Amino acid sequence: MFELSEEQRLIKETAKNFADTTLAPVASQIDREEKIPTEVLSKLSELGFWGIMVPEEYGGAGLDTLALALVLEQISCACASTSVTLSVHNSLCCNALTKYGKEAQKKRYMPRLAGGEIIGAYAMTEPEAGSDAASLKTRAQLVGNHYILNGVKSFITSGPTAGLIVVFARTHPDISLRDKGISAFLVEPGFAGVTRGQKEDKMGVRGAPMCEIILEDAYIPKENLLAGENQGFKIAMDTLDCGRIGIAAQSVGIASAALDSAIKYAKERKQFGKTLSEFQSIQWKLAEMATDIEAARLLTYQAAVRRDKNLPYTKEASMAKLFGSTMANKVVKESLQIHGGMGYTKDFPIERFFRDAKITEIYEGTSEVQHIVISRSIISNRCL
Ligand SMILES: Cc1cc2nc3c(=O)[nH]c(=O)nc-3n(C[C@H](O)[C@H](O)[C@H](O)COP(=O)(O)OP(=O)(O)OC[C@H]3O[C@@H](n4cnc5c(N)ncnc54)[C@H](O)[C@@H]3O)c2cc1C
Repeated sequence: MFELSEEQRLIKETAKNFADTTLAPVASQIDREEKIPTEVLSKLSELGFWGIMVPEEYGGAGLDTLALALVLEQISCACASTSVTLSVHNSLCCNALTKYGKEAQKKRYMPRLAGGEIIGAYAMTEPEAGSDAASLKTRAQLVGNHYILNGVKSFITSGPTAGLIVVFARTHPDISLRDKGISAFLVEPGFAGVTRGQKEDKMGVRGAPMCEIILEDAYIPKENLLAGENQGFKIAMDTLDCGRIGIAAQSVGIASAALDSAIKYAKERKQFGKTLSEFQSIQWKLAEMATDIEAARLLTYQAAVRRDKNLPYTKEASMAKLFGSTMANKVVKESLQIHGGMGYTKDFPIERFFRDAKITEIYEGTSEVQHIVISRSIISNRCL
């Protein structure tokens, strides 16, 4: 049996309490107004959720990956926009800095990131480099004490609001080197030559704004190179492994909320003289939904625990994300069906869960990419 420690239970309870009392009441407003209210952002700071895995010496909570997964799961039950903002910030930005940053870089950025003073983002995708991230074209050339970056990064979560962006760019001119010629940079949006594009009009997670980051002769101080030159792709993939646990947790949270909503509606709504919950076909749907959620939750926690024990976890994180995101989309679809016509209106949150769930199959590696990661791992590691 998977048992949480006393500390982990407390973290989960704290996140649940915040999700139920502070976030859930404003979640549809966040979706409608495409903005997380300042009070919510401040409360997240108070709770230490901007620096969950950031070491305490830099102002973080110094917790582990399972703690991050527990928090993201609970927050996703209320608002997927808030959870993806936190997930990208914690697992893709703070985590890259914690693991690969130099002391001066950590001192400069970590306390502000951990306190929620600045939001972190991660910029890998380009108009012509999505799933094939190693084909990215953004160029970085060292000139004196600066790297000059040129290129466009697309679909950047928190791009419109971020105070620090981990940007991946090609330091080696030979594009055929692919992943071996890429470096990672800590980019402040205020640096000369960095501009933000128009905010994208999205289907779901509408409260997590996204835009292009345009680099036109952008001046990045040499000391903002993360780790060494041409180490960027390794950093990108390593941080994405952790990010995928976050998206798996998000999938579990969205699905749990959809199940709760379906149960509540099924117990209230009467047809043919009975509540929906009295029909066996509805009961079986609910039973399958609950079972699938539990399986996804365990895969997610397992991947997190493996990371915390320094065990290989790339395959497990991909499995958790693949299974979790597929499950979430199935569960929200069934839940909406149980709500009947009411589920298709904005009177019930299931309509938002339905829109929010879809992205879990796309960002941080599509489901097809997860299949590639998992199959590569099992074929190379198993004696067939
Ligand atoms: C809301 C949102 C937020 C995002 N946030 C960020 C962010 O913060 N930072 C960032 O860098 N990026 C971000 N992204 C980008 C996201 O990671 C990419 O959209 C994703 O990786 C897919 O790339 P693509 O959209 O170019 O699709 P493509 O790579 O063009 O893929 C299109 C389809 O083809 C399939 N496909 C591609 N290659 C293969 C293959 N070899 N075998 C089988 N099928 C294949 C894909 O699975 C997909 O179904 C975000 C995207 C969205 C929509």
